[in-house]
Amino acid sequence: MSQVLFFSYANDINPLSGLQRLISKSPLSDMIPKDEPVAIKLHMGELGNIRYLRPALVRKVVDIVKSRKGKPFLFDTVVSYPGERQTKKKYLRTAAGNGFVKSSMNAPVVIADDEDEQQTIAIMNRIDGCQLKEVKAPALLLQSSCLIVLSHVKGHELTGIGGAVKNLGMGCVSTATKRAQHHVNMPLFNEESDCDSCGRCAELCPTDAIELVDGKPERAVAECIACGTCYIKCPSHCWVWPPRAKEKLQVCLGHTASAVVSAHRGKIAFVNFIQDVVPLCDCAAASGKPIVQDVGITFSLDPVAIDKASIDLIDQAPIIPGSTSAKPPDLLGKIHHTNSLIHLETAQKLKLGSIKYELISV
Ligand code: SF4
Ligand code: SF4
Repeated sequence: MSQVLFFSYANDINPLSGLQRLISKSPLSDMIPKDEPVAIKLHMGELGNIRYLRPALVRKVVDIVKSRKGKPFLFDTVVSYPGERQTKKKYLRTAAGNGFVKSSMNAPVVIADDEDEQQTIAIMNRIDGCQLKEVKAPALLLQSSCLIVLSHVKGHELTGIGGAVKNLGMGCVSTATKRAQHHVNMPLFNEESDCDSCGRCAELCPTDAIELVDGKPERAVAECIACGTCYIKCPSHCWVWPPRAKEKLQVCLGHTASAVVSAHRGKIAFVNFIQDVVPLCDCAAASGKPIVQDVGITFSLDPVAIDKASIDLIDQAPIIPGSTSAKPPDLLGKIHHTNSLIHLETAQKLKLGSIKYELISV
């Protein structure tokens, strides 16, 4: 059973002092190597999103690392779909707009893309139908002496909860590996649908994967990045998600998260921020309104345990009236018609961590 430390906002409404207290009670201080690089992995928010992790909380972690003589840098990877975080330049601009720049963070902001050196990690133990053969992840991240994964806990339409395991398995890998995972959920054209040959899907597909042939869309699978644009933008709802897409993606995610941890050369710690718990992830410009009252901050050395504890703490939190008709258990999974435990259970089978945990209030 893994330990999860918990600072509750119900007891103290100052998140910064709470974060300081949480970390002072954790083993993190002793994990920070003097004069060595410490990667602080976080999602810096899509352009237009206002629910991403607050910069002041991240700065507090930077200050704590520096007080232990570590050399922190903020880190994330570019996304695999079109938008304002698709390239380093765009992501750095978006991060700056969201408050993450060297001058405010007192640490460099580093965004990696596939042009940076990547380490290939072979997946030796594939279970539960995982099709992935390998994972690529930035060498800079894997070779950091210490990795602190900061996760804003919120919903995700494919995984239910988006927490530490998702931050590892999707946020810490190359765009090639992101796409390989998302290939299990490429939208399918419904031959029975009322397609009126408007051509909108072909026009908006960012990779020109779709072509209208005899008035019906045909897709080059190799070109598809599973961005979902055709599904979202078709006015006649002609595209559908493939069967069990969410479950399959979660199984992939358990494998990629496990691969990243197995290849990392140093120590890894996880901090989950259970606040602004909105239905959609920080990749969405509009991620919705919070569904429960802010809960608090958790710390663990186990990404599976910290995510399971986050699910349980959200389930126990007062629901904001009118925000959702879903009911616990697994409130976020229910909202997205999936079971958040699938990726956690896969990760547990791969020995990434334990779903059983002991919650310790600090
Ligand atoms: S999901 Fe649809 S819009 Fe997106 S790349 Fe694939 S075919 Fe194109
Ligand atoms: S957007 Fe929809 S209706 Fe228009 S061509 Fe594509 S599938 Fe058909």
